Amino acid sequence: MSRPNPREDLDSTLSPELTRRAQADLYRRRVVMAGPQGIEPVIDGRRCLSFCSNDYLGLANHPEVVTAFQRAATEYGVGSGASHLVTGHSRAHLALEEELAHFTGRERALLFSTGYMANLGIAAALTGRGDNVYEDRLNHASLVDAALLSRARLRRYPHRDVQALEGLLGSGPQGRQLVLTDGVFSMDGDTAPVSALASVASAHGAWLMVDDAHGLGVLGDTGGGTLEAQGIDPTQVPILMGTLGKAFGTFGAFVAGSAVLIETLIQQARSYVYTTALPPAIAQATRVSLTLVQSQSWRRERLSALVRRLRDAARQLGLPLLDSETPIQPLMLGDVGRTLNVAEALRQSGIFVTPIRPPTVPEGSARLRIALSAAHQPQHVDRLMTALADALK
Ligand code: PMP
Repeated sequence: MSRPNPREDLDSTLSPELTRRAQADLYRRRVVMAGPQGIEPVIDGRRCLSFCSNDYLGLANHPEVVTAFQRAATEYGVGSGASHLVTGHSRAHLALEEELAHFTGRERALLFSTGYMANLGIAAALTGRGDNVYEDRLNHASLVDAALLSRARLRRYPHRDVQALEGLLGSGPQGRQLVLTDGVFSMDGDTAPVSALASVASAHGAWLMVDDAHGLGVLGDTGGGTLEAQGIDPTQVPILMGTLGKAFGTFGAFVAGSAVLIETLIQQARSYVYTTALPPAIAQATRVSLTLVQSQSWRRERLSALVRRLRDAARQLGLPLLDSETPIQPLMLGDVGRTLNVAEALRQSGIFVTPIRPPTVPEGSARLRIALSAAHQPQHVDRLMTALADALK
């Protein structure tokens, strides 16, 4: 019997998993955006009120950021053309790195093309076979993948459970020890107990890294993130990672720490060395958004007021919001079908909230991830809560 051709062979091997996902309500579909990110974007051809962007401060389409990007494209062109170690590293990159180091109170900072790549690069540069990486069970997928790629042994502790981490650290492991945690947990909105994690890590000779993708710009009086909000000294957390595609409204990521850490990553982080540098115009636009993040604290104040308004309304309506003080306000529904139905009912009334399903979150914990932005108005929150109360009836 002749074998099917390679394309048929590939498709018939892959199809059953697609069918399984569709039958389990786990099939993901992309919506298509027209125009800029914002609170009232055009999604699949229809304008709606959106609560599902990570553009927490409303900077992704800020006129000063856009103008900086356009001017820099005129000066530098669009593509960076090479990796940072060849000819891709521009003055704009260097200036942004220096400003990010200053912003985070650290000796140096290093840009990466994405947060996912930063996490992969850091873990694999700092640990390897025979070492141990410890992670909160609800860490972002990129941190889990980072540990797997590093070839160190991955040991996970229950969410925010410092005692459990201490038990793992104390069980006599050898080699290097690296503790990785989200600062703000991306699907839950709560924050890591950084001070306690730092004490336990340092008592056992482990290094702590905080991925503050959802905290930087949003938390702390000057937008310094989870560490600033919790009053943590930078020396307690030797490795800080942040992303630029969320509160900063642009794209990319960075690591901040000592000069030795940064030089080590420049030499050894493969996702830094073997990839094209971020476009310089993105770096230049981010320099402007960094000044806005620091100077416009009204954006954070407005966000906090919106969070309070949403939580007060949810309490009155008896809606099952998770315990979060950040702009990530998940509504826990549990069942995948019910979560999809509520999201669809909202959509019918012109409101967009992303349903989050396994494997992004643990089985049985499907939810609507409501994300607030400083660009929302109080009446937007009121409209959402009224629509939610109706949809949940
Ligand atoms: N870390 C966390 C906690 C995240 O939520 C994300 C993005 N969702 C990343 C890392 C990855 O960042 P990027 O989107 O820049 O790859």
